Amino acid sequence: MPTVFTHAAVPLAMSLGLGREIISKRLMAAGVVVSVLPDLDVLAFRFGIPYASAFGHRGFSHSLLFAFAVALIGASLARPLLSTARGAFFFLFLAAASHGILDSFTSGGLGIAFLWPFSDARFFAPVHPLRVCPFGLSGFLSFKGLIILWSEVRWVWLPCMGTAIALAALRRRRASLSRGDLHENGTMG
Ligand SMILES: [Zn+2]
Repeated sequence: MPTVFTHAAVPLAMSLGLGREIISKRLMAAGVVVSVLPDLDVLAFRFGIPYASAFGHRGFSHSLLFAFAVALIGASLARPLLSTARGAFFFLFLAAASHGILDSFTSGGLGIAFLWPFSDARFFAPVHPLRVCPFGLSGFLSFKGLIILWSEVRWVWLPCMGTAIALAALRRRRASLSRGDLHENGTMG
């Protein structure tokens, strides 16, 4: 898995790119939570459930069906999330599904059970630029930890934030253009 912080990059970038009017702060926070939620399955190791099991790490909680279920729950909570049901559904689905997708780009462990419960097959992306992250904190506080973080900055944070900033700039430009139109129409009228 990439580190927990890196899974949050996707909902944070989507929020920044789409803006507060579309993604409320509460919906953004919910997106961050569901983007890291699938990794609660590491608890399976404690219960002796094997990695390769459908209920092991990268199993059912990393599937598209799980993301769909999480998004449905989110859509039912659209009002407290200060969103529309459709907006909450799509945002949370993408945030939750992005978890398994990012994991599939890592260079270790088993693949992702995207199609559970229809198939137990584990999938990897065709390329693996992300270094797999150790489960313990000790592995992190090392030179190897820095290499892992750098691979995540380079392949996840920079592209995500670059896209978000470009989208936000485009949005501002469109808003100022339409304000300009209004102003022009106003003076002409
Ligand atoms: Zn994961």
